[in-house]
Amino acid sequence: MPYQHIMTAVDLTDECHPVICRAIDLAKHFQAQLSLVHVVEPMAMAFGGDVPMDLSTLQQQQLDQARERVAAFAGQYPELQPERQHILFGQPRQEIHQLALEKKCDLIVVGSHGRHGLALLLGSTANDLLHGAPCDVLAVRLKNRIMAPGRRGD
Ligand code: AMP
Repeated sequence: MPYQHIMTAVDLTDECHPVICRAIDLAKHFQAQLSLVHVVEPMAMAFGGDVPMDLSTLQQQQLDQARERVAAFAGQYPELQPERQHILFGQPRQEIHQLALEKKCDLIVVGSHGRHGLALLLGSTANDLLHGAPCDVLAVRLKNRIMAPGRRGD
């Protein structure tokens, strides 16, 4: 069965470009729809969930910034239509799985690591997304940033 709706998940780092390019190539190959998702993680999550202050203004700023960054990022790719660029707020795994279900995606394309990825290991988000995914997940291998002793980077 050809893929019909491919969704690429990006953390907006420079490393995401190969991930988007792979998703675009696949979408062209299968003549599939292509969507992009970026999830803004609640600040409270970074502090372990319990912060004794109101973070709503900061979170609104986070979302506004994310909108600008996604527009600038996705604007480099004419294949990514604005109405298919999704910015969500919450826990990446949960939000991406939910969106994939809602939009009837049959493939999620992510990087093998991003901000949280240790060199040579599958990043935590990529790993997380595999578990309980409502569709196929492709982890695009990205160049390792830190080399293990005695290993070449490619
Ligand atoms: P990481 O878990 O940070 O190593 O990220 C692995 C991959 O998951 C990245 O290359 C992205 O494709 C995806 N990813 C990470 N964080 C996010 C996010 N906040 N929103 C959407 N996708 C993400």
